[in-house]
Amino acid sequence: MATRAQQAKPDRIDRSVDSLLKLMTLEEKIGQLNLLTSDLDQTGASLRPQYRKDIEAGLVGAVFNAYGVGYVRKLQDIAVKQTRLKIPLLFGYDVIHGHKTIFPMPLAMAASWDMARIEGAQRIAATEAAAMGIDWTFAPMIDISRDPRWGRVMEGTGEDTYLGVQIAKAQVRGFQGRGLSDVTSVMACAKHYAAYGAAQAGRDYNTVDISERVLRDVYLPPFKAAADAGCATFMTAFNELDGVPATASQHLLKDILRREWGFKGFVVTDYTAITEMILHGYSVDSAQAGKQAILAGNDMDMQASIYQKTLPGLVRSKQVPESVINESAGRILRKKFELGLFADPYRRMDSARQSASLLTPAHRAAARDMAARSCVLLKNNGVLPIKSSVKKIAVIGPLADAQHDMIGAWSAAGDDITAISLLKGLKDNLKGIEITYLKGCDITSKNELQDKIDGGAAMALANDADLVILALGESKEQSGEASSRSTIKLPGAQQALLAYVKTIGKPIALVLFNGRPLDLSDIVDMPDAILEAWFPGTEAGNGVADVLMGTYNPAGKITLTFPRSVGQVPLFYNQKNTGRPLNDKEKYTSKYLDIPNTPLFPFGYGLSYTTFSYGAPAISKRELKMGDSLTVRVIVTNTGKTAGEEIVQFYVQDLVGSVTRPVIELKGFKKINLAPGQAQEVVFTLHEQDLRFYTQSMRFASEPGGFKASTGPNSADVQSVLFSLK
Ligand code: BGC
Repeated sequence: MATRAQQAKPDRIDRSVDSLLKLMTLEEKIGQLNLLTSDLDQTGASLRPQYRKDIEAGLVGAVFNAYGVGYVRKLQDIAVKQTRLKIPLLFGYDVIHGHKTIFPMPLAMAASWDMARIEGAQRIAATEAAAMGIDWTFAPMIDISRDPRWGRVMEGTGEDTYLGVQIAKAQVRGFQGRGLSDVTSVMACAKHYAAYGAAQAGRDYNTVDISERVLRDVYLPPFKAAADAGCATFMTAFNELDGVPATASQHLLKDILRREWGFKGFVVTDYTAITEMILHGYSVDSAQAGKQAILAGNDMDMQASIYQKTLPGLVRSKQVPESVINESAGRILRKKFELGLFADPYRRMDSARQSASLLTPAHRAAARDMAARSCVLLKNNGVLPIKSSVKKIAVIGPLADAQHDMIGAWSAAGDDITAISLLKGLKDNLKGIEITYLKGCDITSKNELQDKIDGGAAMALANDADLVILALGESKEQSGEASSRSTIKLPGAQQALLAYVKTIGKPIALVLFNGRPLDLSDIVDMPDAILEAWFPGTEAGNGVADVLMGTYNPAGKITLTFPRSVGQVPLFYNQKNTGRPLNDKEKYTSKYLDIPNTPLFPFGYGLSYTTFSYGAPAISKRELKMGDSLTVRVIVTNTGKTAGEEIVQFYVQDLVGSVTRPVIELKGFKKINLAPGQAQEVVFTLHEQDLRFYTQSMRFASEPGGFKASTGPNSADVQSVLFSLK
């Protein structure tokens, strides 16, 4: 419940915003809607003359790509000392998985299924960013995606909506902390609204064409959750949806976001997205694009400068009502008030706080912990954790000493020189073990036929060691924005390098660093163990060493399916049954001639150094009534010799519906920690509301009928019990 003081505050801000708007010229109001990148990246901390002039004239409301107390102070000085109304600037930045202390890429953090730690990581990111003058992060990125070809899967939470909802909330809490007025908080921005992750063929920016039902059942819930969690801003997506660019979609921005969800914050476009409406073939020129974007409900124009150029004319010619500009400017000003910028425009620009807040030992320790918790053990025949009998390790591969790649894509302000490579992590942590190293080959290749592979040297090194740790994967640049791949195998000559090492017959632990699930079918049988480490961030080498040594027993589980072949994509666990479900004995069933339908590793999969056994689920009642709830209990036992964590998963299937329903859907999970031999009962509560979906008549409702409740260690290995909804 909001306290009296909290309820009274918005009214006061409303009044301040209204009085300010009355003082502003049309151009100044439109200026608030203008977000421009700074020239920091190109020219260091100098100021282009035009840039300075626009700020001085009050034509810029917000700036991005500017950070560091010294530089943002310079810009803020112009706004609050030289403009007519002294309205402070708002500073935005892509703080996606850490600011200076880089945490594992978001898809990796998702694999921890650890909401408290994900929130904690984003709290640290916010603290560091806010100490460098940033008020606003362009995160969380909460695009569900079912396509590992898409380079931006690294930035999201994976393929599942339920998990995406939990992670969206955790991230908003982390960024916004105790509220926007706190100096360590930054505004969050839920992006990219919406369905950007459904780009056809996994090619970035490509067309999206999905049904309204899939949009609402699969892609929108994380956004709704972010809005409900108080996320201050939303960013539109580059893609079109059902023929309309998301940035022009009244349906998304007005019908759903404002009317259905009651979102009160402001909406920013993605980078030059308004201009791109012309290339989409939706707007004839800038003026039409500007009009369409503002009338659709975009408050702020990122980098297109189209609002600045076209809105004054559009308002004067009465094509856009001035009230619309007032509303948008009002929403942005309100956030500036909530951030405390009118009270003190320099509040996030304190150089003492800046020097005390970045890359602190505590932040690095949290990043190391998260790096270990994000790892997923995909395979292990016992070579991991590293045994005490191992005296010499050959560390081989182009990602072994790849400090630059460790922080992954979207590590905007991160400095790779602060990152710990795997080689360094192993050398620093593995005392009393001799370590040799060889790069072996490049990560990627320009011409596979001419790739240089140090096969002979790799074999010699392997021959001379008790254990080979091979570090293979993708470069930092092979995932992220505009980094889709049509094949998702190990790039370049890396598979060949593995083949050389394999001939020697020494135990091989393969550590993968990559931004997406890879197609590992050709190599999965070759190593003795496979540890998916993703891009683990600043503390990569230490965190991964913790896992390899067994100081931390891995517990991560994948949140995006690893296919057997890119030909299966999109492949996701919560698929439909079809009218001809797989039957290997019959020809005319839904399958491939050349490979099984199943993935190589299913959603929710990941191993531990110990083993767990699951009992059969027990249900509290077989009949559930509307508005009621039931519980499902399962006993999980640590049957191995090591203490370990397990992510216990709870799924439901709605057997028959007015529209067909997925064969299985995640509805809950719990991460538990068990000592060897210890058993624990895990209880999941299922409310009737959890069974709701968009029915044939597009009502969000549950339907009476039969259901299956399942529990297990991953989506493909469950035990079930039936119940019905009356
Ligand atoms: C990306 C956004 C990002 C923006 C600003 C765009 O290209 O799609 O996610 O926030 O740039 O850097």
